[in-house]
Amino acid sequence: MLDKVIPDSYIIEKFYEHAGYPRYKKTTNVYEGGCPLCREGNSWGRKRRLYYIVKDSSIFCHNCGWSSSPLKWISEVEGISQFDILREAKNIEHEFVPTDVEIEKEVNEDSLPGDCVNLFDKAQTAFYSNNKKVLNAYNYIRERRLDTAINRPRSLWYCMDDRIHKERIIIPFYEDNEIVFYQSRKLLSGDKKPKYLSKLNTEKSVFNFDNISPVSNNIFIFEGPIDSFFVRNGVAIGGIQSTSKNTFTPYQQSQINRYPFYDKVWVLDNQFIDESAKEKTLILLKEGHSCFIWPKELKMFKDFNDICIKGRRDEITSPFILSNTYKGVEGIIKLNLST
Ligand SMILES: [Zn+2]
Repeated sequence: MLDKVIPDSYIIEKFYEHAGYPRYKKTTNVYEGGCPLCREGNSWGRKRRLYYIVKDSSIFCHNCGWSSSPLKWISEVEGISQFDILREAKNIEHEFVPTDVEIEKEVNEDSLPGDCVNLFDKAQTAFYSNNKKVLNAYNYIRERRLDTAINRPRSLWYCMDDRIHKERIIIPFYEDNEIVFYQSRKLLSGDKKPKYLSKLNTEKSVFNFDNISPVSNNIFIFEGPIDSFFVRNGVAIGGIQSTSKNTFTPYQQSQINRYPFYDKVWVLDNQFIDESAKEKTLILLKEGHSCFIWPKELKMFKDFNDICIKGRRDEITSPFILSNTYKGVEGIIKLNLST
C-alpha cells in the first residue's frame, strides 16, 4: 500500500543507482540489471537477473530469489528505514529519466568464449576497476584508440577465462546484430599462442559487416580487424594467404556479394615495411582488384592503427585512401616504383 506513495521516477532513479548495468526494456516496461544483494555469483557483469516490473510494482531477482516491493528493495539495498525513504521520496522533486534506454537483442552467451567482459560497457569496466588484468586490457584498447575509433564494432571483450582464449582481447564479428564469429588477439608478451586465434569449427565471416552503410559507395577491405576500426565502411577478412587465390572464405564471399554496387578497395599493411603485404598487393592487382598503395610520406607507419595512435586520430577518410588507390598495370608500376 505504502508503495503507491513513491513516484515511479523515484524507484527508477534508485534502480539505476543500485542495480548493475541497468537497462530499460521499453516493449515490456521492465527494468533489468545486476542484483546488488546477491551480486549474481559468477554471472555479475554479464547477465541481468534483477527485474523491476513496473505494472506489478515488484522487484525480484532470479538468482537469489529476493522478491518484494520497490520500497522494501530500496530500504534493504540502502540500509535505510522505509519511513525515511518515504519521507525522502515525498520531499524531493524527481524528474529522473533514464538515459541509457536500450532495446537490444541479448548477446547469445554461447557466441563468445568463456567469461568475457565488454570493454566498451562503462558499467562492466567500472565493476572490474580493481581487477588488474581487466584494467590492463582496458588501457590497451584506450592506448590504441579502439574505444573511440570511428568504425569500431558495437562491443569489444576481454576474456577472463577460457581454455584457448583466456586473457586475450575478443574481437566480435557481427551479422544482423549477432556475433557469428570472433577472433582473439594476444595481449600479454608471455602469451605464447599466435597473435590471432579464430573461433573453432566456424567459418570465418566478414568483420564489421554490420557497419557497412551507404555513407560511402566504397567498401575498404583490410586484413586485420583492428585497422578497419578507423575507416568508415572498413571491413576485414581476418588474414589472407599470400599464395592463395581464394582471398575470401565462401561465406565471406556470399556476404560481399550482397553489396554488388559498392567499389571494393583493398587496404593492406605498409608495403614499404612488410614484404608479404607487398606480395599480396601484387597478387590482388594482377587479379584486377583496386588496392591502396602506401604513399612515401607515410613510410614510417606500419598500418592504419599505427597512423591513428601516433597522429591521435580516430578516422582516416575515404578521399585520402582513394587518392592513393590504384588498379591494374598502373598499380603494379606504382607498387614497384614506390616500394
Ligand atoms: Zn539476487
